[in-house]
Parts: sequence; C-alpha cells; structure tokens
Amino acid sequence: MSKILLASNNKSKLAECRAALSECGYEVVSPFDLGLHIDPEETGTTYRENSYIKALAFASASGLPVISDDSGFEVEALGGRPGLFSSRFAADYDGDYERAGRALNDMLGDSPSRKAKFHCCICFLKNPGEEPLYFEADFPGTLLPKSSGHGGFGYDPYFHSDELDLDMGLASPEKKNQYSHRAKALKKLVEYLNRAGEQ
Ligand code: IMP
Repeated sequence: MSKILLASNNKSKLAECRAALSECGYEVVSPFDLGLHIDPEETGTTYRENSYIKALAFASASGLPVISDDSGFEVEALGGRPGLFSSRFAADYDGDYERAGRALNDMLGDSPSRKAKFHCCICFLKNPGEEPLYFEADFPGTLLPKSSGHGGFGYDPYFHSDELDLDMGLASPEKKNQYSHRAKALKKLVEYLNRAGEQ
C-alpha cells in the first residue's frame, strides 16, 4: 500500500481521511507516526494558501506525497467569520468550543439569518517540486443558538446541517464521513487518485 502523509495530528481529521482513502489503496500516516514535529505558521490569506503552506512544509520534511486540509466555519451574517481564523477564534477561549460557540451567538445577536457553513480545502502535493492540486467543498446549514450533543469536534455541536436536517453534535461519525465538507472534498480527491492510478 502506498503511503500518503496527512499534514495534521487532529485525530478526527485523520479518521475521516483514513476512511476515505482506504478505498483507493493509500495508507494515511500522520506526522506523529513519522516522528515529525513541525508546525508551519499559517500566514496565508485564503484556505488554498494555508493548505499549500502546510503541504509544502510536510512534503519537504517527509519525502512523501502529502494531503493537507485547511477548513473553517463561516457565519454569513458575520461576514463569514470566523472562517479562516476558526481555530484561532476558539484559541481566544482557551480552545473551549462551548464558549467559542456562545461568543459567535453573542456576536450574531438577534440577526434574522443564522445561515452558516463549513468550508474545506484539501491540497494534494505529490512532491515539493510539483504543482499543488486543490479539492474544495462546502457543508451548508445554520448556527444553533445552543450547543446540541457532543459528537464530532470543534464547532460541530453548534451546527445544524440543512442537507441532513440533523444537529452535527448528534450525528454518527459514519454520517459525518459521508456528508461533511471534508468528506465531499475527500471524495473529489479520491476520484482524482483513482483516475490518476488508471493512467
Ligand atoms: P485548520 O486545522 O487550521 O484547518 O482549522 C480548522 C478549524 O475549523 C478547526 O480547528 C475547527 O475550529 C474548524 N473546523 C473545521 N472543520 C470542522 C469540522 O468538521 N467540525 C467542526 N469544526 C471544524
């Protein structure tokens, strides 16, 4: 089985990527598995730029093909915030997403729109000298006024999916792995890898 490195030690992201890539013959390894301790600064101004910064750093350090994910939670009436800064926004609340979700609700006030979405950009970099490829997808829904359930990670307990008509804090991992922004972007990557394998 060929190895592919996921440029993240986030256990939930790793499980989602392993579930998607096992079907096209790739073993997904993490920086932790390889003893790699690098944490490139995400200085980009777009999801693409940040995913490429991570992919390039990890591909240069490992010599393996890399997939990196940059994602975020966007509340429409807040101009798409926290968006690219989703994890940094939560860091302002000591990484406590219960408090971060409450803060987003405070910022939203009594806005008539609670529209929100997750966005995911996956960068695939075969080696540092090659052009990166990007696979992107959205997961539309609404920001919940209160957290619901404890499933998933990050902002999931504050998110209701329109497509599934389900609070994501109550969703099974299997359901999330089928419909989320990351699942959809990964499906596009898998289609590409399958096509590339045939050539
Ligand atoms: P990244 O690791 O720099 O891409 O940060 C993405 C951040 O967006 C995470 O730390 C979460 O705060 C949020 N996020 C991205 N995907 C999800 C998801 O599937 N569920 C909940 N929060 C997510």
